[in-house]
Amino acid sequence: MSGSGQEDPAGRDAAEGAEQVAEPLEGVKGAPDRLPPESAAFDAVQAAFVNAARLAGYERVRTPVFEQTEVFARGVGGSTDIVEKEMYTFSDKGGRSLTLRPEGTAGVMRAALEHHLPKQGNLPAKLWYAGTFYRHEKPQAGRQREFVQVGIEALGSEDPLLDAEVVIVGWDALTALATPEVDLLINTMGCTRPHCRPAYLDTLRGYLDDHADELCEDCLRRRTANPLRVFDCKREGCQGAVAQAPLLPDHVCDDCRVHHETVLAALDAADLPYTPSPRLVRGLDYYTRTTFEYQSGVLGAQSAVGGGGRYDGLAEELGGDRFPGVGFALGVDRTLLALETADVVPSAQPRADVFVVAVGAARPGGLSLAVDLRRSGIACDLAFDDRSFKAGMKQADRAGARVALIVGEQELETGTVTVKDLASGEQREVAREAVSNDVTALLRT
Ligand code: AMP
Repeated sequence: MSGSGQEDPAGRDAAEGAEQVAEPLEGVKGAPDRLPPESAAFDAVQAAFVNAARLAGYERVRTPVFEQTEVFARGVGGSTDIVEKEMYTFSDKGGRSLTLRPEGTAGVMRAALEHHLPKQGNLPAKLWYAGTFYRHEKPQAGRQREFVQVGIEALGSEDPLLDAEVVIVGWDALTALATPEVDLLINTMGCTRPHCRPAYLDTLRGYLDDHADELCEDCLRRRTANPLRVFDCKREGCQGAVAQAPLLPDHVCDDCRVHHETVLAALDAADLPYTPSPRLVRGLDYYTRTTFEYQSGVLGAQSAVGGGGRYDGLAEELGGDRFPGVGFALGVDRTLLALETADVVPSAQPRADVFVVAVGAARPGGLSLAVDLRRSGIACDLAFDDRSFKAGMKQADRAGARVALIVGEQELETGTVTVKDLASGEQREVAREAVSNDVTALLRT
């Protein structure tokens, strides 16, 4: 360590840290920035998802971005890729193990139990969330380390119609955006009580034992704790091995079979096209019965834009009493990528409807004019840095404004403002006090 400066938490010498860095600092790999105009398209995708949830009666739930590690270890499952390899886990100053949320459902269920939702009645509780999630994956197109999901969770009911509702809300959210080539894949995972899945897992383990020489090392290891993961393995040997494997839908109990048939019949009644996918297992352990995924044909390897399912055993994994639920999570980043790939990105709202171009001594009055308009609910921006009138008009154009308000020396003297309709090119002088009403009327045309 050089000099007498104190060391900061990053291990740098404070004096050294104060020196100017040679290169501008960069963001963290896999954690994207979204700048305008892309950020507006991103928000439009998120808003469309949230709108679909609201239309179906879901209310917002907010949970913290970090939880006790236990919530995910027990909720998502110790032998999943997420928990085994992908969590951002750290110890806080009190020595507690905390984890940045890799998904939304476990945290929402933890909150529901902690705040006694099961006892409050009025079930199902229908909740939506939107926020950032964190997984230490290898960054590539459509796969980041920080990403945004919008999800819904319907808690406290086993009604198969609720599974269908959830599937339809996600479908409608994606189709409202014109997400290209979306396929809905659907499967049943059976139940953990009264045990149709455990019996199936024994059958699958037996099958995998007979095909052990075809499996990769990961799958050999997981075969005991979590044999379903083999369906998700991309390696050729494992894919070949499971090609003839016994499949869950053929081994579920009568209750699960009826539940699944009822869900599919409800989707049929709603004219929703779907593909039964008996090998769809998804990467989280909490699913029971219905599981589904929305895939877009225009994306490459990371084709899922969203997915979800029922999780009737999750509450018990988290230490509560049985409290069933069903939900989905849609990925905003990946959906935007699909929209960009097909060139159907939602068009951004103009940044301002009105743009004030005030030059020289008129500039402070220009700001107060803009402020008045904003206070009457009109989106209004203005030119800064005392550039020329011409530069100001160019900025008005770039902002997408419909109206330019020009205040120069002459207007200052006469107490007027020149109102220019940028769509027609027409302009006229209006008294300063009448501008707000005049512009409001003009924007309505
Ligand atoms: P999951 O929670 O794994 O079911 O994922 C639900 C959706 O979130 C996926 O279909 C993706 O759209 C999105 N998603 C999951 N992981 C990532 C990631 N690493 N990068 C970007 N989007 C992701």
